[in-house]
Amino acid sequence: MRNKVGIYYAYWARDWDADFVPYLARAASLGFDALEVNAGTIAECGERDRTRLKEAAHEAGLALSCCIGLPPSSDIASASPAVRARGIAHLGRIADAMADCGIDRLTGIIYSCWPGTLEGREGGRDAALRWSIASMKEAIKKAEDRALEYHVEVVNRFEQFLLNTAEEAVSYVREVGTPSLRVQLDTFHMNIEEDSFAQAIRTAGTHLGHFHVGETNRKPPGRGRLPWGEIGAALKSIGYGGWVVMEPFVRPGGEVGRDIKVNRDLMPDADLDAEARAACAFVKRWLD
Ligand code: MN
Repeated sequence: MRNKVGIYYAYWARDWDADFVPYLARAASLGFDALEVNAGTIAECGERDRTRLKEAAHEAGLALSCCIGLPPSSDIASASPAVRARGIAHLGRIADAMADCGIDRLTGIIYSCWPGTLEGREGGRDAALRWSIASMKEAIKKAEDRALEYHVEVVNRFEQFLLNTAEEAVSYVREVGTPSLRVQLDTFHMNIEEDSFAQAIRTAGTHLGHFHVGETNRKPPGRGRLPWGEIGAALKSIGYGGWVVMEPFVRPGGEVGRDIKVNRDLMPDADLDAEARAACAFVKRWLD
């Protein structure tokens, strides 16, 4: 089965909350098979907007996934029972919204919060990990009931402290112990934390369920110096059949530029749509 190739809507958006519908036809016209949207937004919007998104995706012939970095007020790894309960409820609202939107996969930092630091955490990393796993065992029940798949995204130390390597993520999903929870890797973060791209992908192995791609500076794939040959060969060696979603961030400004630390225009003369089209073609060639 050919991997679906997608793009994260925030490539074009200035703010995290957005109307995703206009991005669907745009992404389809550029060659993509899927659009990844903000899970926080769909959890807050009404049933009419959810149906509109589902129908628009169907019309554009695109599949949808959704992504979130849980806010600190919904951190399921918190030492506070109230904060953990809020996080589990937040994931529950997202699961309901996903079902309404026809989305079956949730990705991102769903095991704690984003950004998340270790400083000031009662009990340190070990306690946070225990709270997170216990919370996830509860939250994942809704995913199991609705046949949804959740993915824990491994990110770099400057954004989170709990899952920084593929090995840590595999151990986490094994502890939770359900096929509804899988590992997500992202080449931008792997470049910082992993000794080897190929080894990290092999470590994730059959647990790997979602894959984000971007260059070292978050330019679109093909515009930097990541070892795509090595990464692609490793994905083939484990028989990876999941989605490959690019997550480029190149324009400063708005909440997105602020939170992702895009402090300058990384591609000042670029036509964003032309770049996305070229990156999509690059990724599809690379996966062939
Ligand atoms: Mn990512």
